[in-house]
Amino acid sequence: MSKDIYVVVEQRNGNIQKVTYELISEATKLAADLGEQVVAVLMGYKIADKAQSLIHYGAQKVLVLDAPVLEHYTTEPYVRGIEYVIKNYEPNIVLFGASSIGRDMAPRIAGRVHTGLTADCTRLDVEVSKYQEYLRKATNLPEEKIMALDTSDRNLKMTRPAFGGNVMATIVCRNYRPQMATVRPGVMELGEKDTSRTGEVVMVDAGLTEADMNVEILDVVKQTKKAVDITDAKILVSGGRGVGGPEGYNPLRELAAELGGEVSSSRIGVDSGWIEKDRQVGQTGKTVHPELYIACGISGAIQHQAGMEDSEFILAINTDKFCPMMQLADLGIVGDLKKIVPALTEAVKAY
Ligand code: FAD
Repeated sequence: MSKDIYVVVEQRNGNIQKVTYELISEATKLAADLGEQVVAVLMGYKIADKAQSLIHYGAQKVLVLDAPVLEHYTTEPYVRGIEYVIKNYEPNIVLFGASSIGRDMAPRIAGRVHTGLTADCTRLDVEVSKYQEYLRKATNLPEEKIMALDTSDRNLKMTRPAFGGNVMATIVCRNYRPQMATVRPGVMELGEKDTSRTGEVVMVDAGLTEADMNVEILDVVKQTKKAVDITDAKILVSGGRGVGGPEGYNPLRELAAELGGEVSSSRIGVDSGWIEKDRQVGQTGKTVHPELYIACGISGAIQHQAGMEDSEFILAINTDKFCPMMQLADLGIVGDLKKIVPALTEAVKAY
C-alpha cells in the first residue's frame, strides 16, 4: 500500500535549498492529517552529513542516495534515483520544488511511474472524506477515533494558478499513486528548525553508475557573482517598464540600500535584459512576501500580483492613479518615479 510523504531534496554544491525546508515543513502538516510520515530523499555525492538538517526541520526518515554520478545534477541519474525509490518504497505523495531542477525531473518521473503531476502548486491540502465529515457532525467521537475509523483514501488537494492566474485550479489524483506535485519556492511557510528532533537515516543503493549518464560533463562553471534571493528580503524596491531602461534601476538600488532591502522587478525588466532573471517577481518569477513592497512604475498585471499580493505593506509609485497596482496598494503616490524615488531616498537618509 502506498504510504508516506516523500520530499525530493534539492541541493546545490552540497547546500540544501530553502524550498526543501519549506516542503518538509508543509509535508509535516499534511502528514499529521494523513497519519503518515515525512521522508526526505537526499541525492548527491558525499552528502550523507546533510541528512540531520532535514530531520531538524521535521523529516522522520532520510533516504540517502550517495554516488559519484550524482555529484552534479544531471537529468538521467537523478530521475533514475527517484524512480528507484518510488518503485521500491511506494510513497503516497512525492513533492518537488518548482525550481529548474524540480521542473526538469518531476514530469519525467511521473511518466515513468505512470502517475499524474500537478505542476507549480501554491497550496496543498488533504481532502476530507464524506465519512469523516459525517462522523464529526453526527457523533462526539474524538478526532483520533474518527481518523482511525475512516480508512478511505485521503487524497491530496493540489491548488495551482491556471489561465494566467485568473483561476485557481484544485486538482485531485484519485486513481494513481504516488500523487505528485511541484511546489513554488517561497509560498509554503518555513517551519522552525529544532535540533532536538531525531530521525532515521537510511543509505539506499539504487545501483547508479556512470552508465546511467546520457550526457558528458565537460566543465562545471560556478557562478562567481553572489546570487540574490529576493524571497528572503524584508523590503523590496521593485521596478517595472516605468523605470525606462537598465540605468533606471539605479535610483531604486539607492533607495533599497538606504532601507536595507533588495531590488526586484516585473517581467518586463527581465525580458528586456535590464535586470537579472533571479529578481523577477510574479507567476513565472518568484513569490515574495516582504514587510514592504515598493512598486515603481509597475502596472500590477495579474501575473505580477500573483507573486507579491501577500506583501504586508504595498506602496505604489505610478503616474496612472487608476492602474491595478494602485487598487492593490496600501498607499499610492501618483507621479513620476524619477522624481519621487530620489526624493524618498533623501528623506530616508535625513530620517
Ligand atoms: P506595464 O504593464 O507596461 O506598466 C508600466 C507602468 O509604469 C504603467 O502603470 C505606467 O503608468 C507606469 N509608468 C510609466 N512611466 C512611469 C514613470 N515615469 N513614473 C511612474 N510610473 C510610470 N509579469 C511579471 O511581472 N511577472 C511574472 O512572473 C509574469 N509572468 C507572466 C506569465 C504569463 C503566462 C504571461 C502571459 C505574462 C506574465 N507577465 C509577468 C507579464 C504581465 O502580464 C505584464 O505584462 C507585466 O507584469 C507588465 O509589467 P510592468 O507593470 O512593468 O509594465
